[in-house]
Amino acid sequence: MRDWNAMSDDEFRRAAIDFIETHCPASLRHREDQPRWSEAGIWYHKMAEHGWLAPSWPVEHGGMALKPSKHMIYLEEWNARGVPTVMQQGPLNVGPALLANGTPEQIAEYLPKILSGEHLWCQGFSEPGAGSDLAGVRTEAVIEGDEFVINGQKIWTSGALDANQIYVLARTDKTVSKQKGLSFILVDMAQHGVTVKPIHTIKHDAEFGEVFLDDVRAPVANLVGGMNRGWTVAKSLLGFERIFAGSPHFGRSALRQLVEMLRLTGKDNDPVILDRVAEVKLDIEDIAAAFEALAQEVKQGHSFGFEVSTLKVINSESYARVTDLMMEIAGERGATFGPAALGEGSPDLFKSFLSARAPMIYGGTAQIHRNILAKNVLGLPDTPDAAPRPSTATPAPSGDSMAAELQNAADRIVADMGDMARTRGLRRSLPGHDAGLLQTIAELGWFAILVPEADGGIGLGLEEMGAVIRALEKGFMSEPLLPIAVLGARALVQADGEARDALLAGMVDGEVRPALALGFDGALPDVRMVDGRLTGTCDMVAGGMAATHFLVPARGDCGLGLYVIPAGATGVTLTARWRADESPVGVLALDGVPPESSVAHGDVAARAIETAIDETRLVVSAGLIGLSEQLVDMTVDYMKVRKQFDTPIGAFQALQHKIVDLYIQKEITLGTYGYGLRLASEGELEMGALRAKGRASGAASRIAREAIQLHGAIGFTDEHDVGLYLKRVMTLAAWLGDASAHRRRFVETGAVVASEG
Ligand SMILES: Cc1cc2nc3c(=O)[nH]c(=O)nc-3n(C[C@H](O)[C@H](O)[C@H](O)COP(=O)(O)OP(=O)(O)OC[C@H]3O[C@@H](n4cnc5c(N)ncnc54)[C@H](O)[C@@H]3O)c2cc1C
Repeated sequence: MRDWNAMSDDEFRRAAIDFIETHCPASLRHREDQPRWSEAGIWYHKMAEHGWLAPSWPVEHGGMALKPSKHMIYLEEWNARGVPTVMQQGPLNVGPALLANGTPEQIAEYLPKILSGEHLWCQGFSEPGAGSDLAGVRTEAVIEGDEFVINGQKIWTSGALDANQIYVLARTDKTVSKQKGLSFILVDMAQHGVTVKPIHTIKHDAEFGEVFLDDVRAPVANLVGGMNRGWTVAKSLLGFERIFAGSPHFGRSALRQLVEMLRLTGKDNDPVILDRVAEVKLDIEDIAAAFEALAQEVKQGHSFGFEVSTLKVINSESYARVTDLMMEIAGERGATFGPAALGEGSPDLFKSFLSARAPMIYGGTAQIHRNILAKNVLGLPDTPDAAPRPSTATPAPSGDSMAAELQNAADRIVADMGDMARTRGLRRSLPGHDAGLLQTIAELGWFAILVPEADGGIGLGLEEMGAVIRALEKGFMSEPLLPIAVLGARALVQADGEARDALLAGMVDGEVRPALALGFDGALPDVRMVDGRLTGTCDMVAGGMAATHFLVPARGDCGLGLYVIPAGATGVTLTARWRADESPVGVLALDGVPPESSVAHGDVAARAIETAIDETRLVVSAGLIGLSEQLVDMTVDYMKVRKQFDTPIGAFQALQHKIVDLYIQKEITLGTYGYGLRLASEGELEMGALRAKGRASGAASRIAREAIQLHGAIGFTDEHDVGLYLKRVMTLAAWLGDASAHRRRFVETGAVVASEG
């Protein structure tokens, strides 16, 4: 038995490609229609024979027990190489459902028959009158002796034409509430009373059919999970199915097609198109990061949470957006039935476009998943007079990691000292921060969180700093910790001049507070070093009003240098410019100022500045997450109490779906931020920063704008805090590059067209 997980990802991918290329007949691949069992059974048997049929099952039951990253590669290669899905209900759903809910006898009986291809399964859930309202099934099962007798009709049953087994959800008790009277029963289709009729899909295949059950029999031993417990089993099974639908492999395959299509149309250099492709690519990649995190948790034994619904919605809709964009870019050449008219090797764009409609419908429609999230996560009411329930949109930090401890500590500072009246009082005032709070922060050592221990600091990482900033921003404590303890500190840490050590030592108790003097959007300022003196202007000195020292990048005859100027030195003029949140940013004018010292030159200076900016971008993302959390929380709370038409506005479905979309954006940002931290720790700081900051800026701005809309006119007043949060979001989202600037950087890295090619 091979240990697939012991292979490197590359080795595993090669093995998968090799297996597909060797054994999957070309006639089955990249087909517009869904091949029938008579044709595709050979491939099913090959997968079983070589151990590739059941990627998620445990090894002892003949599965591959793939860890999530490997499973993702498996799905990607299957899709990329146009491998058909052949009777996948058995391996994908029935196996895992029996392993979770079945008896040892059922597991022993059914799993080997799935692997051998003797049993081909289909899913009998939906009925003509029970789609989204699945618990409304009317198919009935009545016990006679040691058998169930089943009568009813199932519809949209995928693979029904080839299956010989069907698992049905049937009503076994009509006296209790809808969900409580259902049972999950395994039924042999090869018997009198089972009639299957094909239904042709929009793609012209017979992917699904109708199944009529007239006095059909199944042994009572085929009941799974207990009498009248079918709803629980069905839900766990739908969890597996939704995980599958939440996996980004469809989207990734469609992206491959999109990139191929760009090449064929010669549009792979068009900046406008590349920007749009970058947008969907980043969406799919961020979903992939969130999916991988969820799959990892599931593998570690955590049960499915509502994250599955989050992923199902965003994934299915993003997949559809990729194919929409494909059709739009291809124009009439793509609107062809069969391969697009783009020359040799054209992909079948229209088939992809049609296929992408299905995941938004099966396994629970995107709307139903939004309902689930609105009710179960946000606690929004179903009915006008429902009692309010708590929202779990922002869970309390958990675990005993240093990051969680720091986040808790910052939460306590917010609880003790946070006060919106205090913050309001600081607006458009100078120096624009609360000196007492800065002192407390200094005493806690937070200015030195990112200063290495060797330099006398606390020596923690970006994740820990991010935890503090996330909590402080959530509590609207926007004291200039970010520009000084992150941007300034990290520029200094990565410098190498003599003055560096003394300045860092002074940061430990907050006596030294360095601010990196930059231009707009993180650009180097327009400052020249001539004859040992600095002259020029720095337009965006964040934290400038609290700084004791300015770190000024300047060019001269010897190239780039990073120079230290004490605040208040002769020839220095510092004026305030008001940012969108009405906090001051310094505009630093230097008129022939001799620097106190220099801390870096040439490449070292350039790297110190670039690295500090990228590290700050990552930590700012955490701050934007904190702001987004507060915006979602305060909007949900408002929607529960604000009544119109005698109804809390949170009971209106149109608004529920809107706020759920904002919650989903926040969740995806959390995943991307975690991924960005990981990339940074693996030496890919620039990519990590642009991914995290791009996502966080775009998502938080959208959340803030729509939060105003959901509040109505009160949100348009200065009195309500939601406006303050909007302004803070717009400030941080724009700082050091907004979402579109980061997308441009992403395009410049070549990643948009390269990795999919
Ligand atoms: C390709 C494909 C394969 C399928 N395979 C199977 C299968 O193998 N086995 C099986 O049992 N089923 C299968 N289905 C059926 C699928 O599960 C149902 O189509 C789905 O649950 C939706 O039900 P419906 O089609 O009856 O739509 P309806 O429930 O009638 O919904 C119609 C529209 O109304 C919306 N809507 C309904 N109720 C609400 C509400 N409360 N709030 C907001 N919006 C609402 C829906 O989102 C949808 O947009 C398959 C479907 C497809 C497309």
